[in-house]
Amino acid sequence: MNYWDQYLLPNSIDEALGMLHEGKGSAKVIAGGTDLLLDILQSRHPAVDALIDITRIPEMQVVERAYDRIYVGGGTTHNDIVANPLLQQNAHCLVEASSLIGGNQVRNVATIGGNVAHALPAGDGSIALLALDAEAEIASRTSRRWIALEDLFLGPRKPAFEPSKEILVRFRFPVLKAGESTMFQRVMRPQGVAIAILNMATWTRKSVEGIIEDIRIAIGPAGPKPLRARKTEQSLRGKAVNEGTLSEAVEALLEETRLRTSPHRATRAYRKHLLSVLLGRQFGNIGPQRGR
Ligand SMILES: Cc1cc2nc3c(=O)[nH]c(=O)nc-3n(C[C@H](O)[C@H](O)[C@H](O)COP(=O)(O)OP(=O)(O)OC[C@H]3O[C@@H](n4cnc5c(N)ncnc54)[C@H](O)[C@@H]3O)c2cc1C
Repeated sequence: MNYWDQYLLPNSIDEALGMLHEGKGSAKVIAGGTDLLLDILQSRHPAVDALIDITRIPEMQVVERAYDRIYVGGGTTHNDIVANPLLQQNAHCLVEASSLIGGNQVRNVATIGGNVAHALPAGDGSIALLALDAEAEIASRTSRRWIALEDLFLGPRKPAFEPSKEILVRFRFPVLKAGESTMFQRVMRPQGVAIAILNMATWTRKSVEGIIEDIRIAIGPAGPKPLRARKTEQSLRGKAVNEGTLSEAVEALLEETRLRTSPHRATRAYRKHLLSVLLGRQFGNIGPQRGR
């Protein structure tokens, strides 16, 4: 049995979109193939007529700063993200997330666009980009549009764009300014399962006195989509970090997350415990988890 009949290598977004159009729904974009090929081989995705490999498209590899924003091509591999000085400076949480994905062989080919387009609730790259307040540029044959990452997911494996007609070209997010910092952490099973038991990314802006002026928190898996913990963020804004504010924040987190038991990874109770551990670590281990 053939899993695909043609393997196509377009040199531009327009060419790739034309190939998708000609495929009439039975062609599929492929980047590193580390999600898609497994899905096809393990029958979670039907065989396709054509695979359209977007990794030779120069526009999709560009990482650059323009004015007060950083742009990251959807075809950028995780190892290229890790090695990029601009991202090390402005997007520590993304660099950290990419550095933890798979092993070196996976990171050499797997892309940030593929991680997001796969739309898992705990994709490490998706969680980091959500905390960075990123937007994704989606191209169709007739237009290009920017979508906030928070609106890019409909549910597990369901991105909010049309995979048979559209391509995720690049991401953009604001540069890091004075007083701002980002962080990514996750807890994994020791071996065998690629997706985190729980991951968390934060972007924080603190005053010189240590007050949290603004914060963004992203968590997965905490529901059907990568979650922006907006109630928790609100409970922390304008406050100094101490055990009291962190306890309140953990309460808010427990309210707005939908944790579940998954047979291969962890129980709901363990994930609940990890919420307070990860949140405490974001603030230097202050908080209710201390001493455990
Ligand atoms: C051993 C192993 C370990 C892994 N570990 C982790 C881990 O620790 N954390 C984690 O989050 N993930 C992990 N993964 C999953 C995977 O490696 C990542 O999600 C990776 O970033 C996917 O990128 P890719 O380029 O390989 O995507 P592909 O497999 O090429 O594509 C994935 C999906 O996205 C679509 N797609 C890809 N690029 C685009 C685009 N630009 N526009 C539109 N659609 C697109 C494809 O059609 C497909 O549906 C692991 C996988 C393996 C095999």
